[in-house]
Amino acid sequence: MMVFKSKNEVAIKIKALASEDLSIGFVPTMGALHDGHIALMKTAALENDVLAVSIFVNPTQFNNSTDLDKYPRNVGKDIELIYSHFDKEQTIIYTPDVDDVYSDQIIAKHYAYGGLENKMEGASRPGHFDGVGTILEFLFHLFKPARAYFGEKDFQQLQIVKSLREQLALDLEIIGCPISREDSGLARSSRNGRLTDLGWITAAKIYQSLLLAKEMYASGKYDRIQKTVEQTYDKIENLDLEYFTIAREVDLETAPPAEMPQKGLRAFVVAHVDGVRLIDNMKLS
Ligand code: AMP
Repeated sequence: MMVFKSKNEVAIKIKALASEDLSIGFVPTMGALHDGHIALMKTAALENDVLAVSIFVNPTQFNNSTDLDKYPRNVGKDIELIYSHFDKEQTIIYTPDVDDVYSDQIIAKHYAYGGLENKMEGASRPGHFDGVGTILEFLFHLFKPARAYFGEKDFQQLQIVKSLREQLALDLEIIGCPISREDSGLARSSRNGRLTDLGWITAAKIYQSLLLAKEMYASGKYDRIQKTVEQTYDKIENLDLEYFTIAREVDLETAPPAEMPQKGLRAFVVAHVDGVRLIDNMKLS
């Protein structure tokens, strides 16, 4: 069993694997694992010799302490779930406490991601991507993976990580994986566990709103998408829209209707149900 709470133990294991020339596929998570996480791990296990998973609720990427406190944690169950899918001998799990990661102060470093950090999630959650960069820089140096796997559910994060890789000149591949959804279309999320039964049904409307945007986009109704989607949110009780944006995948620059015939656009949404903040997106072209 390779479950480690200490970075020093991980470092020793990684050194041993490197001496055998074994490649590591790394999946960083904050735990409360679901099928979306498992899908990332399956790809990582398939494409590498060893699967490495970190489970750590990183305090510096939360700008809201209530959100941090309420973030679901169940490491025991997470470990069981991982080992029900993957070979114990080929799977490393790192579940540190905060002081193993942040020995002195719990603060983030600053990163410039070429402006990506100021849009959408960056604007809504100040400092969030500094926290993401800080933990990933630490984890990438610790695990030295050949490849690291990220979900397109957090599409902006995926672009941020690619920028981080460039900035730090890291020798690893960043791989984006498709969004895993419930039958209702709701994007799987650790936060979904905090929804009420009715909230689950309401939250599926987020997916519906993205489908609507995609449909309108396909039929060229560019100048009406934003308003129509916003209006659908106004009509649904207990579903509060934080933002809906159509932006270019490459730089996350908002696309005005005149630019919409371009390729490489995606619709991005954040909405709140039962006080739970939910994020989703969908490729339009
Ligand atoms: P988290 O534990 O929420 O920090 O997520 C860890 C990784 O899993 C991130 O790369 C997420 O983008 C990815 N992930 C979370 N939910 C999903 C999902 N429904 N589909 C695909 N990837 C996901």
